[in-house]
Parts: sequence; structure tokens; C-alpha cells
Amino acid sequence: MAGVAIIGSGPAGCYLADQLLRILPEASIDVLERLPVPFGLIRYGVAPDHQGTKSLARVFDRVLSREQVNFFGNVEVGRDVQLDELMSFYDAVVLATGAEHDRKLGIPGQELPGVVGSGAFTHWYNSHPESQTLSVQGVRSVVVIGNGNVAIDVVRILAKGSAEFAGSDLAPEVTAWLETQPMETIHIVGRRGPADARFTEHELAELGTLQRARPVVMDPASVVGDSAVLETLRCFAADTRTAPVTINFHFNLTPAAFLGEVRLSAVQFRSRHGGVIELPAQLAVTCIGYESVACGEALPVNGSFPNKVGEIKERLYVVGWAKRGPSGTIPTNRTEAQQVAQKIAAELKDSHRPGGAALRQLLDERQVRWVDYPAWRRIDVAERARARDGRCREKLATASAMLEAAFYQPLVS
Ligand code: NAP
Repeated sequence: MAGVAIIGSGPAGCYLADQLLRILPEASIDVLERLPVPFGLIRYGVAPDHQGTKSLARVFDRVLSREQVNFFGNVEVGRDVQLDELMSFYDAVVLATGAEHDRKLGIPGQELPGVVGSGAFTHWYNSHPESQTLSVQGVRSVVVIGNGNVAIDVVRILAKGSAEFAGSDLAPEVTAWLETQPMETIHIVGRRGPADARFTEHELAELGTLQRARPVVMDPASVVGDSAVLETLRCFAADTRTAPVTINFHFNLTPAAFLGEVRLSAVQFRSRHGGVIELPAQLAVTCIGYESVACGEALPVNGSFPNKVGEIKERLYVVGWAKRGPSGTIPTNRTEAQQVAQKIAAELKDSHRPGGAALRQLLDERQVRWVDYPAWRRIDVAERARARDGRCREKLATASAMLEAAFYQPLVS
């Protein structure tokens, strides 16, 4: 029975496990995850008010629950086990480690308090155990840089009123922060024109349905052309409602500097049409993409792992954002997983390597407390049980709280 280790339990890793089992129902698949909890981007990237998308976790949960699949949460490659050790234990190893680092703009002022990347920001609003508390207060004006769907997510979370988070899993601390900011304006800024924006129409249109916010197109004459996104922007431009918060769409502005003495006060842009403009801001979120980080000895080049149809080298493969860079929606991973699973299946040889038994022994020797599938289920139950105020879940926000829930044994009376 061939053994495969998948590093990463987000959509790319879970779809690959699923696809491999369709082709190789006898294979044994071990899914390793750095955090004690699975699902990566679904849990910590997808916005808390998009529970429809987050419900894909149920599909992935069924994959992890299968007899041939073992979950090893709280196991970090490079810390608890080395990549070459995994290569010696398994017939094939797959990196499904995503793209964790925020790309940087590389302009003056980017280290000022008040400037954050979208990865850090989405981790914060999704209660990632390694996220930093947002220290900035008194936010009246925000600048969101980038014209992709992540920028839309960030704008929507900032623009919504508390009642609009019913049924979400937004944490009480995040709700409290949003409630206490005197938010008036959210600027969303693209370096190219409206026709080049990468929003999808459904995500963009949602901004026109918010209760306390109204989208405004700053230069309606620039919205030229024929597409669903452009049509939506024209609808925004024709909307004359008033609302406490305005979402101002700016185009053709290239970020030039973050300004401020001790903290951010404005963002400076160069206009494509000439001149410089400054938008006041106490918070700026850069939504300009992500880069993969090293996985043990495997190093990314320009943000992703060089590969040929998913193969990095013999028996080592890659899927998802780690393979192709940070693009595509979650279902893109399913299509890609089909291709890479076929390649792995065609090349896989059962070389009688020890597989999960060797990994377990090594983790025991190193006293690594890994979270298996039943232990993850206990975390899941604990998080659902502590949900309050109309939320569907209240995530445990530290790894130690997760481990406590994972290994807590209720007293039997
Ligand atoms: P994206 O769609 O690639 O958008 C990145 C944006 O950043 C682009 O507007 C890009 O402008 C801009 N940008 C890059 N470098 C820049 C620079 N130096 N200065 C100014 N602007 C810069 O990426 P994303 O929004 O991070 O989303 C990643 C993927 O996840 C996408 O495929 C997205 O559709 C998907 N996603 C989907 C959903 C959903 O379906 N609900 C939600 C979130 C994310 P240029 O175009 O000029 O390069």
C-alpha cells in the first residue's frame, strides 16, 4: 500500500487527498498541518461573514475522517520533522502549504503603525492563533490598496454594521473594535483602470447591498467598456443614497508612500494622468497578493515553488497557491488536484517505506503532541459550544487553548 504525505490541510491539500483516493482507493494518506486545526484558507482566509464558502469545511472534514486518511495537526515541517525525513518515510510528499506572506509594496513608510498586509488583516478578523491585535484606534478613514477579491473582503468587513455579522464567526474582540471606530470613509484604490480590476461581479455587487455603507465611484467617466464588473460600477455611480460610511472607488493611482510621523496619517499616490494625491488614513491595508514561504529545505523562488505540472523533483510534488502563486478561487484547487493526483498516481511506486508508523514513532520520540482527527473534532465541538451573540462558532484563539480542548477528557461519573 503506497503512502503519501500531504503538508497542509487547506483546500489544495484536502482536494488532493480526495482526488488521490478516487484514483488509488488503497493508498494511505497522512495530512500534516502546522496548526492544531485543519482547513487553512477556509478557516483563516475566507471572510467570517461568508459562511457559505466556509461550509466547504464540511466536505474537507469528510475527507479527513476517511479510514485511509490520518490528520497530524500541530506538526510543523522544519521544526518537528524535516522534509528529508518525510521523503524517507513516504513514497510521495506533496507541499500544499499555500502562500502565507504578504507581498510588500516596497515604498517609504510601509513599516508605520497602521499599515498592514491583507494576510495579517484577514488572520486578525479570522482569529488566527498567530495574529497580532490591531492596535490602531480612532479610525475614520481607511485606504485599501488593490483591486482583487481580497480587497473587497477587507472593505466589506470594515463597512458592515454589527447586525450584519449575525450567523458569522466574527470574534467578539473584532466586533468590538469595528463597533468603536468612528468609520466614515473607506477608499479602495487600484493602480490600473476599472476595466483591469480583478474583482468578480458577485463579490463587487455585494458592496451595494450593505446596510450602513454606500459605494461611490470617484471618476464615473473612467468606467468605460462592457463587462458585468463595469456594469456594477456604473450602478454604484448612479446610486444617490446617503449612508454613514462611503466606499470610494479610485482608479489609476499607484501607491507612492505611506505618510505619518509616528503612525500612519495618509497615503500618497501618483496618478496615471499626472500629479500626486494624498488620501487621509489611520489604517491602510495592502491587498496585493501573497508569497509562499520555505517548507523545510524546499525553497520558493519569486513566491512559489518551481515545478513541472506539480512535480518539484522525483517523489516531491506541490499543489495550490504554493504551486501556481496566489490566484484562482477555491474550486480552482479541485481541478488542479485532479491533474496532480493523476500524475502522482502514474508515478507512484510502493517502495515499502514505513509511512505513518515511522512518523508517529519520530513524533513520540521528540515529544510532539499531535492532534489527530478525533482530537480536532473535540476542538470543533468546543468552539461551536462557546458561540454567543448569534455567532455560529467562537474560535479558540491560541494554540494552547486548542490543545487543551483537543486533549481534555471529560470526567465520567
Ligand atoms: P488579485 O486578484 O491578484 O488582486 C491583486 C491586486 O493587487 C490587483 O488589483 C493588482 O493590480 C494589485 N497589485 C499588485 N501589486 C501591486 C502594486 N505593487 N501596487 C498596487 N497594486 C498592486 O489577488 P487577491 O485579491 O489577493 O486574491 C487572490 C485570489 O483569491 C484571487 O484569485 C481571488 O479571486 C481569490 N479570492 C476569491 C474570493 C471569492 O471568490 N470570494 C475572495 C478572496 C480572494 P494589477 O492587476 O495591476 O496587478
